[in-house]
Amino acid sequence: MKYLKERELLIEYGKNMLDKGLTKGSGGNLSIFIREEKLMLITPSGIDYYKTKPEDIVVMDLEGNVVDGERKPSSEHALHSIFYKKRDDIDAIVHFHSVYASTLASLRWDLPASYYLIAVSGGSSVRCAKYATFGTDELAENVFEAMEDRYVAFLANHGLIAGAKDLPNAFNKAEEIELCSEIYYRAKSIGEPVVLDKEETDNLKRLFSSYGQVKTD
Ligand SMILES: [Zn+2]
Repeated sequence: MKYLKERELLIEYGKNMLDKGLTKGSGGNLSIFIREEKLMLITPSGIDYYKTKPEDIVVMDLEGNVVDGERKPSSEHALHSIFYKKRDDIDAIVHFHSVYASTLASLRWDLPASYYLIAVSGGSSVRCAKYATFGTDELAENVFEAMEDRYVAFLANHGLIAGAKDLPNAFNKAEEIELCSEIYYRAKSIGEPVVLDKEETDNLKRLFSSYGQVKTD
């Protein structure tokens, strides 16, 4: 089967999302971009990750056409393909509905740099995108804009998205930002979190551009 390794990786990380309590059932979605062929592999709509088989992964072009697969692709495929079309530093995307990021996104708050791991976002904050209904091109455009110079963004009243050159690193960024969101929530509930200044967030960003990457080889 073509792209078997990538298909299995998507299923493995889908199960990871469930195991780590980052989403429920078939919630959230993941994709990998095969840049040399301009094809995107994405998880199917509405199938539990524990029941997803390699052939259930849907292969699409960036115009939204299914190239291979019997299943319906994730309803958020436009949210993934916009990044592969417009950015060359993102070849994998993870989107889920984790509790703390979704809590902040429900308040439509940006996440400030009150915890050092914010640096995995590629900047000094995680921005919350303008609200749009799930599955729409408008949502894809709003989220793309919010993720400018970043690898992570919140989707207002919805959840979190993260991108990277490969799936393990995209997943890692999403997971770390969920942790930052939880710590921010907890700190905010007993006091006023101290936000790191720009000099230090620039410093952390530099350090994290080499250190903190998930090794994939
Ligand atoms: Zn979603």
